[in-house]
Amino acid sequence: MQSDNIFYSDLHIHATQSRKQSDRKMTIDSLMNVENIVKKAQELGLHTVGIMEHVEPHSGRHPWSVALHVKKLVNQLKSQVDFKLISGCEASIIDLNGGLSASIEDLKAANFDYVIASVHSSLPPTPKSIDEYHLLVIEMMKSAITHNPYIDIIGHPWRDTPKILKSIEIKTPWSFDLIPEKDIKELAMTAKNSGVALEISRPCFEMAGYSRFLGIAADAGGIFSIGSDAHQWDRFNFISQDEIKMLKYAGINSNNLKVW
Ligand SMILES: [Zn+2]
Ligand SMILES: [Zn+2]
Repeated sequence: MQSDNIFYSDLHIHATQSRKQSDRKMTIDSLMNVENIVKKAQELGLHTVGIMEHVEPHSGRHPWSVALHVKKLVNQLKSQVDFKLISGCEASIIDLNGGLSASIEDLKAANFDYVIASVHSSLPPTPKSIDEYHLLVIEMMKSAITHNPYIDIIGHPWRDTPKILKSIEIKTPWSFDLIPEKDIKELAMTAKNSGVALEISRPCFEMAGYSRFLGIAADAGGIFSIGSDAHQWDRFNFISQDEIKMLKYAGINSNNLKVW
């Protein structure tokens, strides 16, 4: 039975079983196939579920063929479930001109139900300080939103920052508290003006300052979606009562939580 609790949705689940084995280090979980995910979503009672894969054809890591295969499998099951099941993809934001790892033409042709665009590891140019990093990342997200009409969700805003800073040897400790308030407001407003949701990425609940971030974004009029970003079976689970409490406290409610 699907729940009418607005928070019981997950729009960021990776069907990692579809990934091709390769010499690159990638999570591949044999349980994370579309059929299993759909069955578990039904058991959990989620009301909206989005299953997808990365598209990074130029790196060779995540070819179009896999994302399109996942889409086909999801579409085949849509009519057999009593919750909203949608197919999407996750592209990386790669520059300051709105460029993604997938072209606008290819995204249009693929016709997914929704598209997530996220900052991952490509930063042009490499920042030399936390301040430079913040200036760069806000511009990357804003330019992606304003240049690309196919983006529906900005995936996990700022979440990968600790990993990114480590990779570019900026050693200052970072938390969500360090994001300038004006950047959070600008992102929330730019996204809202284009009908783009900011993803509430559930792994962020374990990071300091996340409730401040959500509160500022909600106050600025942002709209939101919820995603586990599960690549592994045990990460695809129910949102906890503590997480829901934090979301309510930050001002997330049925008016600003986008449900497809
Ligand atoms: Zn991501
Ligand atoms: Zn993801």
